[in-house]
Amino acid sequence: MSGISGLPLTIVAVPAFKDNYLWLVRRDRYAAVVDPGDAAVIEDALQRLDATLCAIVLTHHHADHTGGVAALQSARNGRLPVFGPAAEAIPGVTAALSGGDRIVVPGIELTLEVIDVPGHTRGHIAYFGSDGIAPILFCGDTLFAGGCGRLFEGTAEQMFASLARLAALPPETLVYCAHEYTANNLRFALVVDPGNALLVEREKDVRALRQENRATVPSSIRLERATNPFLRVSEAAIRASVENEDPGAAKNPVATFAALRAWKDRF
Ligand SMILES: [Zn+2]
Repeated sequence: MSGISGLPLTIVAVPAFKDNYLWLVRRDRYAAVVDPGDAAVIEDALQRLDATLCAIVLTHHHADHTGGVAALQSARNGRLPVFGPAAEAIPGVTAALSGGDRIVVPGIELTLEVIDVPGHTRGHIAYFGSDGIAPILFCGDTLFAGGCGRLFEGTAEQMFASLARLAALPPETLVYCAHEYTANNLRFALVVDPGNALLVEREKDVRALRQENRATVPSSIRLERATNPFLRVSEAAIRASVENEDPGAAKNPVATFAALRAWKDRF
């Protein structure tokens, strides 16, 4: 084991666009970036942190997650390793990954396991790390704090299975999702699951954080399992709300999930 992997890992949120978070994962003087939709904000953050970019890690092909890859790469003579999903054609990817793969991000020497999470896009992947660190998850636009991504390319069945895979990770796993959508997600969650005391508390906490313009992520798998309606479609209260909104829709968990996602799209 090289010396660097014993040093602490820090994860820095870099806000971009309207509500994206790009994640810089730093160890010693190196940093990897997850989903750099914008190169300029990453270059600024690297300078501020006095860190050297060592790798790019991508969850899916959308431009707000990949738009900065070319500029970051060309400023470094094309030498960065770029990890991304094998099932999506993303220009610049040098290591194409799918579920079950395990990578060590060079520079920060961070081991990450790849999880297939199709639904938002067809080839979306997530990255889970727990080797020598408290567990972390980079899940792009699949699981959000209090919600989940829209179904742009995949089916409700795929997204349901993808979320179940993430929900099965250790409860203490910190969830680094890619957008600050929490307040809006929890407003919807409260309509669906009004009797959930933990959810009521969480919504208050999040509102207070947003009033101070502070980030509401990372979340944790434990908190999501307790308060995120998209992980709770088997609960009687969620089924009842979905039935009330869309009679006949809560036939089984996948159908309940599909109806809940469609309801959120209209919300
Ligand atoms: Zn996306």
